[in-house]
Amino acid sequence: VKWCDEEHALLVTGSVDQVLCKVFEETRAAKKQEKSNALITFIQEYKETALKLRKDNNNVLISFYPALRLILPILERERGPYGLKEHTLGKRIVKMLCLPPQGGDAMRLTNFRLTDSSSVKDFADSAYWVLRKHFMDSSNISILEVNQYLDSIASLHAANNPRGVDEQLAELFKKTNAEEQKWIIRIILKDLKLGIGQDRILNLYHPDAADFYTVNNNLSMLCDTLSDMTTRLHEIEISLFSPFRPMLSNRCDVTQFNKIFLKTRHLYIETKFDGERFQLHMKNNRFKYFSRNGFDFTNTYGESFASGFYTPLLKNVFNSTVKSVILDGEMMGWNKKTNQFGSKGMDFDVKHLKPHNVYQPCFCAFDILLLNDEVLTNKPLCERLSLLDTTLNPLHGILQISKRLETSNKEDIVTALNGSMDKEEEGIVFKDVTSLYKSNDRNAGWWKMKLEYFEDVMSDLDVIVIGGYYGDGKHRQKISGFLVGVSGKFPDEYYSLAKIASGLDEDELKTVEEKLGPHWININDGNPEDYGVYFGKEKPDVWIPPSKSLIFLVRGSELIRSSDFKTNYTLRFPRIQKIRLDKSYYECLSLKELEELTGSLKPV
Ligand code: ATP
Repeated sequence: VKWCDEEHALLVTGSVDQVLCKVFEETRAAKKQEKSNALITFIQEYKETALKLRKDNNNVLISFYPALRLILPILERERGPYGLKEHTLGKRIVKMLCLPPQGGDAMRLTNFRLTDSSSVKDFADSAYWVLRKHFMDSSNISILEVNQYLDSIASLHAANNPRGVDEQLAELFKKTNAEEQKWIIRIILKDLKLGIGQDRILNLYHPDAADFYTVNNNLSMLCDTLSDMTTRLHEIEISLFSPFRPMLSNRCDVTQFNKIFLKTRHLYIETKFDGERFQLHMKNNRFKYFSRNGFDFTNTYGESFASGFYTPLLKNVFNSTVKSVILDGEMMGWNKKTNQFGSKGMDFDVKHLKPHNVYQPCFCAFDILLLNDEVLTNKPLCERLSLLDTTLNPLHGILQISKRLETSNKEDIVTALNGSMDKEEEGIVFKDVTSLYKSNDRNAGWWKMKLEYFEDVMSDLDVIVIGGYYGDGKHRQKISGFLVGVSGKFPDEYYSLAKIASGLDEDELKTVEEKLGPHWININDGNPEDYGVYFGKEKPDVWIPPSKSLIFLVRGSELIRSSDFKTNYTLRFPRIQKIRLDKSYYECLSLKELEELTGSLKPV
């Protein structure tokens, strides 16, 4: 292997003959499971040599790019087309070798499909048998030189100079042997027929290479950016004072929800803030703010504690140990009068607030990606968030840390989503506590959930209220949740179906309170079954005799099996749509109708 290029001090080069052709031949001949072996060795040798060269000479620029563009000619974007397809290439070689046009060899080159036996696999193979009669065996052309010839063939073709193309091709062939020419032909035709996919090849160079190429479409940049195997893509993308594309959340609807919970998940549930995604970068009290699309809003918010109208508010927010930090979060508008957040639909733009506005920016941090110059993206979310907690002294209405509820219980998600509706929020976000931070990735363990994703999934059901639950906080004395049911197997029997926390506004709650309030009975008093009311494991705080009750029209995303309720079913994401004062209590859904609806449900 020859690794040098004194002239340009630019590239690591190897002789095509001794190195690359051997790798190609071996890969092509290898069995499926062994396809990567030769390429792995080649890449490994390159990396070791590159490391040595870098050590010996700091100024040398080394790249795998010249080799990679020959290995994956189909991904070549820098060089234009060569204007050479099988037929034209055949004709040019015939001319170059001065072959008699009607002779066997010329026919092989210009009409190889008709003339060659089945043992010949492609045009390059066919050409090889002709070329080996005309060219020497040894050669010493480098990868760099092959690229230079290909560059000039492409530019001569672009300049509409076919004679020039012929001359360059002839010169290239003069310097190479038939074995190399066979592979150069395949490179020109952009198909090496190695039997190994492009993503697999890219990932031999670096585990993130295929992903990188999908986004950037640039082999040269790929070779440079991913030259170190131990550095992962999401680490590379994060650096102080330059914007990065933030991690995204996947939409979670009913199907997704079931899929996500096929295995136990430890999750954080958070509010879905309805503001603007922002990243805050800080080093030695110098700040920069970037929007989701990478626009710089530092001039508005302030570069230091003495400038802008937001940064001065952050004077005491960072702990003294924090020298540099990158935070990911949502910039919200905080209403200084009502002491609550405004939402996007309201009449203000958090990116263009002025000091006299009633709203001030409030950054709600939900992730930390760099702390004291250490990139944290490779740490699981739970570790990142513990660091976040130690970094900041949150200031209400100025800089807050997103509150999170840790759970592995999917019912908590249902409750949180319903709760968010009651608070008139957009929805919730839930995140796998083990998730790494992956820039611009929507499938890396974050989900967003809004009630609108579940609407119209299932028809509405009329159910009877058979129990009630006291609320939290200031609603502690009031019934604000309900246990609903359907009529059972026998007349005057009612079976529990679902616990519903929300959906009614203050006025509707009042109506319910007026009608049912006098009849609620504490769960420890009386026997509900004497009144035909049957609960499963789920028991309410209070119950009510059916004849005193009323009907709710409820909507859920789906009916699922559940042993917590007497019907053995329950509703997922139930919401009360309406109080049906027009219906009598016994006009609710029956168990039989419910069973018709559930059909062949499988247990969850
Ligand atoms: P997307 O941003 O997913 O492309 P979108 O622009 O339509 O879609 P939404 O579907 O409304 O936005 O929600 C996604 C956005 O939610 C994220 O871009 C992020 O800014 C925001 N978000 C709000 N709260 C959080 C949170 N706690 N954690 C992560 N992201 C959050």
